[in-house]
Amino acid sequence: MNYENDNIFAKIIRGEIPCDKVYEDDYVLAFKDIRPRAKVHVLVLPKAPYISIDDFGAKASPDELKAFFAAVSKIARDLGVEENGYRVIANHKAYSGQEVDHFHVHILGGEPLGPLLSLTK
Ligand code: AMP
Repeated sequence: MNYENDNIFAKIIRGEIPCDKVYEDDYVLAFKDIRPRAKVHVLVLPKAPYISIDDFGAKASPDELKAFFAAVSKIARDLGVEENGYRVIANHKAYSGQEVDHFHVHILGGEPLGPLLSLTK
């Protein structure tokens, strides 16, 4: 699978589509999820074109990896969710329900989040 340059997060990174930005640096952009599933729901993504966590983990440079995870921690603290706790989710491919094929993690918090998964079986 190749990275598709016209995915919605690529358009947001290029400034072609607006977002509710909460953080930006040379490597990372973070913005509020348009369909929040918790009181706090922010998406954090590298600006470089990685499809998913699998692609990012395999190909990102040490600088990109460090910048990304340092940004996740900083954003969570700045959002005020560190004290009571938060969840980070990354979806990869079909079984996870990944909708957008540009790597991102969800930071969820601001309230109790319930069980890790709610599978129906
Ligand atoms: P995933 O299933 O992990 O790929 O999650 C994709 C997320 O992107 C979903 O939670 C969507 O609500 C969110 N989303 C899709 N389009 C936008 C957008 N334009 N701005 C902010 N969030 C978006």
